Amino acid sequence: MDTSVTMEKIVSLAKRRGFVFQSSEIYGGQAGAWDYGPMGVELKNRIARFWWKEMTQLHDDIVGLDAAILMHPKVWEASGHVENFTDPLVDCKKCKQRFRADQIDPAKLAKKECPECGGELTDTRKFNLMFKTNIGPVDDGSGLIYLRPETAQGIYVNYKNIIQSNRMKIPFGIAQVGKAFRNEIVTKNFIFRTCEFEQMEMQFFVHPGEDVKWFDYWREQRWAYYQKLGIRMNKLRWHQHGPDELAHYAKDAYDIEYEFPMGFKELEGVHNRTNFDLTRHQQFSGRDLQYIDQENGNERYIPFIIETSAGLTRQLLMALCDAYEDQKVADKGTDDDWRTVLHFHPTLAPITVAVLPLMKKDGLAELAQDIRGELKEEFATDYDQGGAIGRRYRRQDEVGTPFCITVDYQTKEDNSVTLRFRDSMEQIRVPRTELESTIKKAIKNYKRA
Ligand code: ATP
Repeated sequence: MDTSVTMEKIVSLAKRRGFVFQSSEIYGGQAGAWDYGPMGVELKNRIARFWWKEMTQLHDDIVGLDAAILMHPKVWEASGHVENFTDPLVDCKKCKQRFRADQIDPAKLAKKECPECGGELTDTRKFNLMFKTNIGPVDDGSGLIYLRPETAQGIYVNYKNIIQSNRMKIPFGIAQVGKAFRNEIVTKNFIFRTCEFEQMEMQFFVHPGEDVKWFDYWREQRWAYYQKLGIRMNKLRWHQHGPDELAHYAKDAYDIEYEFPMGFKELEGVHNRTNFDLTRHQQFSGRDLQYIDQENGNERYIPFIIETSAGLTRQLLMALCDAYEDQKVADKGTDDDWRTVLHFHPTLAPITVAVLPLMKKDGLAELAQDIRGELKEEFATDYDQGGAIGRRYRRQDEVGTPFCITVDYQTKEDNSVTLRFRDSMEQIRVPRTELESTIKKAIKNYKRA
């Protein structure tokens, strides 16, 4: 059996088990958009919650925000998006396919040769990635508005509100999770690059002389986050932007890259954005966006911003790829020798505990339901009574459920159950009264083998 982790396997599992569906599938699908099914929405919410806790609860100097997707169009002039948020595109005159010029082999681009069919390519043109729409009752262009292409600007325009309402003092940060939209031309590789996606961004406001120190601090913090999330660290690496890659606003920028099935690709960016954003918003809005440091003789300055910008939906793809394993578990020469297992960290798993009665009869189903009822306040639970127990374990393995509880005849006698661990497949006998504490301890001490 081929045990490599391929995008085909991930896409197939994601659909089969209700993680991710193609948008509007019954109409042939909508490119660049995906729907998150029962397992997917749980996983996505858990990643977002994990990030939120990490950034806000565990950092005293960071507060949250949920800004609107629709913003005043001047925001995007000030940010530079109207002018600069473009991809260089070329079209093939023969096969009509469109490509990002920066993603074509430079030799082919120089010869204007289509990488797919060898036809002639057009000159490179700039294509703005922002979605435009219209707000208000008249559709004459006067109500032009954009769907935000990043969540960051919602943070910048609220920075003074937050200082005033929450008495924040520099250095401090603002965190936000939310949708963003980009008219991406190349949307292959499943949910890696989509037109509608979610970001988890944190903008940290610092004194201009302290930006380098905080930039280093946030690089360390963001690296440590993936370790806590249970990701295999040998699958991650840093990529520093060279001078030709740096965005117009950035002084220094590093990406954290993950080794997806199609190779190392950007997962998250840590950027030193200098005072570019607030300076521009001050200029375009006419409002004074300087910080007044009352503890230092009312020193006034425009703060520098260190940004950590991660894709939530991209992290979900990483979580699936990183967790996936086709594992040989027996040697009988049948299909049952193999299992597909997702080794999610228990905090991320869509279902934490599945309760399975060995048999439906003799009161075992009722007893199992009763145990599930007891655990559901604390854990995300599932109940499954259909089919052979081995099959039911496999079904749970496939969605990454870290703990299965089996209720059998002995349970009726001594109130103990079998607790099965997903990764090791080890089974232990646990008194019903100790289930909650045993599972909580196992979650706390979890380490992927
Ligand atoms: P690229 O150059 O690959 O288009 P970017 O460097 O412009 O992306 P950022 O603007 O820094 O990306 O976005 C921050 C994060 O948001 C990225 O690291 C990624 O995780 C996520 N992201 C950006 N664009 C998309 C997209 N189209 N689909 C899914 N996630 C995205």
